[in-house]
Amino acid sequence: MDHQALKAAILELKKTLHVSIVAHFYQKDEVFELADFTGDSLQLAQWAANDANPNLLFCGVGFMGQSVKILAPTKRVMMPKIACCAMARMIDVAYYEQNVRLMEEAGIAKEDILPVTYINSSAEVKAAVGKMGGLVCTSSNAKKIIVKARESGKKILFVPDRCLGQNIAKEMGLRSCVIGDGTDVKAADIICYNGFCSVHQLFDVEDIAFYRAKYPGILIVTHPECKPEVCDQSDFVGSTSQIIDFVTKLPKEQKVAIGTEYNMIKRLRHDNTYVLSSSKPECPTMNETTLEDVYRTLISIQERRFENEISISEETRFWAHKALHRMFEL
Ligand code: SF4
Repeated sequence: MDHQALKAAILELKKTLHVSIVAHFYQKDEVFELADFTGDSLQLAQWAANDANPNLLFCGVGFMGQSVKILAPTKRVMMPKIACCAMARMIDVAYYEQNVRLMEEAGIAKEDILPVTYINSSAEVKAAVGKMGGLVCTSSNAKKIIVKARESGKKILFVPDRCLGQNIAKEMGLRSCVIGDGTDVKAADIICYNGFCSVHQLFDVEDIAFYRAKYPGILIVTHPECKPEVCDQSDFVGSTSQIIDFVTKLPKEQKVAIGTEYNMIKRLRHDNTYVLSSSKPECPTMNETTLEDVYRTLISIQERRFENEISISEETRFWAHKALHRMFEL
């Protein structure tokens, strides 16, 4: 089937099978254009959890589909591709517990640790954080969450993105360290796990210097998953939706170089817009989902096989929900 025929077949199946399709901003155009709703990970989870259709096709990466299942356990959530965010894969429960132990060995009692996990983590890690009284954050609300978490007077263990943790600490005038970097963890307010996003690591201060020299007056816009030295030199640092909001309101003639995922940048603004890197910053796992995958998953619903359905044990869901709910309460 060619793309047009495939699209038409997908739209027909979606209607008859009562399926909603959501797609993250980083998805390929062909998938993005089909979605009933598009957004960042939190927007998608909230929209999908409240959607009336019993079946959901989530075009994104694994932790995002899991977030919907945590919030709406009776919904059938399927992913056309079980693609996993590289950053979320950098931590599992064993690594998480190892980091808690390292903090204990450094002289911080477990009851004096408050864990905060970026939403880019598995349901199991969210559950481990929830069990310790911790909570989830996103890149839009991380600062607000850290302010609240600090009211406990505890040390913050921030997982898994070291850059987001360090960038927020800097913005708030707090001390941070990365476990294992040789810094005394007792002297830090935010202790970061050593994870990162391989896509956002692609942007460098040399790229900023290049664009500033080539186009004086250009604005540099980056995501807080970028390295701290890159964010320090940026004119605007924000989450996916904050970047969209900022860039789309710029005057047409304002040049801007953006440091985030390629599919999103190219859709965002056509004129005077540059990618802040000499290589193409595509998220490989986000790019795995194709129209063929969407079609195949819909056929599996029709045949009652429910391919790539997300399932989470009730205990994991319970504790992960606690961690997510604490974020929503704020
Ligand atoms: Fe994960 Fe980075 Fe891809 Fe986002 S861009 S899904 S953080 S690997």
